[in-house]
Amino acid sequence: MTKKSALNEAEGTRPASGINPGAAQRVRSSRKKEIVIEELTREILAGNKRALSQGITLIESRQPLHGEKAAALVENCLPYANKSIRIGITGVPGVGKSTFIEAFGTFLADHGKKVAVLAVDPTSSVTGGSILGDKTRMETLVNHENAFIRPSPSGDSLGGVAKTTRETIILCEAAGFDTLLIETVGVGQSETTVHSMTDFFLLLKLAGAGDELQGIKRGIMEMADAIVINKADGENLKPAEKARSEFRRALHLYPAKESGWTPKVLLTSATEKTGIKEVWQLIVEYEQLVKETGHFSQKRQNQNKFWLLQTINEHLKNRFYQDPEIKKLLPKQLEAIEKNETTPFEAAALLLSKYRD
Ligand code: GDP
Repeated sequence: MTKKSALNEAEGTRPASGINPGAAQRVRSSRKKEIVIEELTREILAGNKRALSQGITLIESRQPLHGEKAAALVENCLPYANKSIRIGITGVPGVGKSTFIEAFGTFLADHGKKVAVLAVDPTSSVTGGSILGDKTRMETLVNHENAFIRPSPSGDSLGGVAKTTRETIILCEAAGFDTLLIETVGVGQSETTVHSMTDFFLLLKLAGAGDELQGIKRGIMEMADAIVINKADGENLKPAEKARSEFRRALHLYPAKESGWTPKVLLTSATEKTGIKEVWQLIVEYEQLVKETGHFSQKRQNQNKFWLLQTINEHLKNRFYQDPEIKKLLPKQLEAIEKNETTPFEAAALLLSKYRD
């Protein structure tokens, strides 16, 4: 037997690195991955907020390896998710969302609810900042043992934020949070996005002078399960009461909701903490009704189906636009349209025919 023989045992003790240097490394890292994710899952299920934060950071990461880990974590948590009420909260900047969430969330947390506050903020990708970023505005809630606050990830598209928020919801629920408050500013499609991932949708409004319905975005009234007129205190109380009547009248004009629920109008003062309990009572009433009729789970199922299709659409769209051939041809077709050399449909047909999956 020569030393060079493949049967030589002495040589055979080190083949792993010789034959495939990356293999041992991969085995090691995959073992490490398993341990980390299993451990993280356990900690999250035990309600460890630090682990929950770590898990969310993993979800928000764009590193491919993190993506794998995040998917495993979400999958581990999924069987423990779902047991919550997801409440969407929207309103223009300055309406008092942070102050309201601080008051409402603290009320719930004081009553033994486990409250997680998340945000969907497409503007953060432009400004680099984020709503909820200024946690000092939620001082009591942020330090409450029953609460968890997570600002919106910045530097992402609405589609990206939507995906991470959906997954974050799963992690929060697995960690035992039973009341989720998901805040958004009324920018672009962000309200529709939040509406399609929540059970109850709350619109915060202010009483203004004159026509209350002016400036209200199309479609938002149909989405709202409750309109809450905030800052109903001091001199603002009377105008707020007037606004309430006006909104009530307006809501009557809309067709009945599929859920059988009639949207309600309430008054709050987030700073004086009035009307807060009533908002919660209303949500409890809603939950009872839609759970009785089966609409609650039906709606969640529809949302899941919607997000499945949405995810596929996003994925296909991205693949198409990132295709090197398309990247080359698209500007040319746009130019051809400018010069009236082609029609949009002809150009689209050409581009699609050139796209190779
Ligand atoms: P956001 O931009 O919607 O999150 O609004 P904020 O919560 O930051 O509130 C904007 C301003 O309105 C702050 O100065 C708050 O103190 C004030 N504010 C919020 N809620 C109320 C309220 O119920 N009554 C009064 N008088 N002021 C409020």
